[in-house]
Amino acid sequence: MEAHSTPAAQLSSQLQLLYDQVPATCCATSGECCALTETEFSEGYATMFPLYSAEYLHIAAYVRAHFPLQRQQELLAFTEERPRRCPFLSDNHACTIYPVRPLICRTYAVMDPQSIAGALEQYREVMPETWLKGFARREGSMLCPRVRVTQPEKFEGHVYNLITSFYERALRQLHLALDLGGQERLSLLRRLTALGDWPLTWTWGGFNALCQAPLSWVRVRLKEYADKAELMDIV
Ligand code: SF4
Repeated sequence: MEAHSTPAAQLSSQLQLLYDQVPATCCATSGECCALTETEFSEGYATMFPLYSAEYLHIAAYVRAHFPLQRQQELLAFTEERPRRCPFLSDNHACTIYPVRPLICRTYAVMDPQSIAGALEQYREVMPETWLKGFARREGSMLCPRVRVTQPEKFEGHVYNLITSFYERALRQLHLALDLGGQERLSLLRRLTALGDWPLTWTWGGFNALCQAPLSWVRVRLKEYADKAELMDIV
């Protein structure tokens, strides 16, 4: 990494190194995994979630650099915490932030029932049972028969990363070095909510409410917003 690279460029490089470990896929681009059915919504599902703080900053920088001003403003003012449709899904079902889409969108449906069963067999009595159960539960809830892995050579390492929570630990490590919005905003966050620090994960709308909204709004409305929030990370 070059010594003079900016913090944003460094964050981008670090995330890219992580994302490069996920096998690439191709899919039917139906957009179904980027929007919720009524049933999914009522069962508490969310699109583009969990979004890690580092990923949020990365995507916000991309939006500022690549979108027309009006669209930037709309996206950065978007504060719906659990929308039925991802704000980055285009009308023709394309992801408008594809190069910087978060980990959850990259790992979605990489595993299928057969490969999950194979991994459980391979790592039975090698990995802790709780890790294997967590892996099976997570990956089993992200299946799509229309997704095909196009980089099978990365598959084995990816499975290991999933079972050992490598990706989550790396994103947590990046989070520790981040400032999402300055000291005054952080003090308000601590005073008005149960959070002692910036949230590690939230949604695009949640992070926007915290990091982009005017301080005058944060002072008056953040508590009410946070009290109603369903997905704010309060760990
Ligand atoms: S970020 Fe892109 S891939 Fe992920 S849910 Fe939104 S539109 Fe879909």
